[in-house]
Amino acid sequence: MLYGGIEAGGTKMICVIGNENGEILDRMQIPTKTPEETMPLMIDYFKDKDIKALGIACFGPIDLDKTSKTYGYITSTPKLAWKNYDIVGAFKKELGVPVGFDTDVNGSLLGEITWGCAKDKTDALYLTIGTGIGGGVMTGGKLLHGMLHPELGHIKMAIVEGDTYKGKCPYHGTCFEGMASGPAIEERWGKKAIELSDNDEVWDLESTYIAQALSMYILTLSPQIIILGGGVMHQQQLFPLIRKKVLEQLNGYLITKELADIDNYIVPASLNDDQGIMGAVKLAIDAEI
Ligand code: ADP
Ligand code: ZN
Repeated sequence: MLYGGIEAGGTKMICVIGNENGEILDRMQIPTKTPEETMPLMIDYFKDKDIKALGIACFGPIDLDKTSKTYGYITSTPKLAWKNYDIVGAFKKELGVPVGFDTDVNGSLLGEITWGCAKDKTDALYLTIGTGIGGGVMTGGKLLHGMLHPELGHIKMAIVEGDTYKGKCPYHGTCFEGMASGPAIEERWGKKAIELSDNDEVWDLESTYIAQALSMYILTLSPQIIILGGGVMHQQQLFPLIRKKVLEQLNGYLITKELADIDNYIVPASLNDDQGIMGAVKLAIDAEI
């Protein structure tokens, strides 16, 4: 059985054909331009491929409330051409198959839960630190949506003493995303994050903010595993720093087997950056049932 998957991002759209074993059999990538330019290319790709259903793991904010008139829409995105765009409706109309829909980060989490490092978990968190910061949450075996979906990147940070950076979030300035996203690193240090690999000061500060956020998620959501993905997390030296600082910040308050084995608790994404598209394929499989 073949399924279509789309990882819809603000800069690129990745379209794949996959199967129920999570195997990706074919893929196509195009830049995200306007819906008028980009949608026909994606529809052409999936037409005649005999897919049983389509799954979309989408940048947001998006409307996931099935009782809402605008379910399946991209809503208030800063990518203005896609604002109030009915992406689910457009694919349903053109392809005539069921369409599963969720956030890009819930998609990545679903990929990891189904085929990756979180297979045995019912409560898990996936955080991406890239152009933006966002997180997907599974609780009690269900992806968390709530009134909209969690926006884990926009929580308030306790600013490190002496840190005068004004932050990059247009809404909150120095929220987590404003302080720790790839563009924030670049603006603060005047170089791309990838060119700063050898500068220990950069990763010391970065890991302090990431550990603060993870400690808050641990205290509020109690995940059994935390998976960190996105471009910035390719800096592997962040992991030991983050693990150490999370334990310091929790200060012995929580005693769990997971925290006792922190190397297997705060982990890198395990699917070679395919977690998002594999999750999209799983969204398709679940939409067909
Ligand atoms: P997006 O968030 O747009 O989907 P990425 O997750 O690749 O894409 O994030 C892009 C951001 O991550 C950019 O700000 C870039 O500077 C940063 N980045 C990409 N690769 C690396 C790397 N190897 N090391 C550090 N930062 C990186
Ligand atoms: Zn913010």
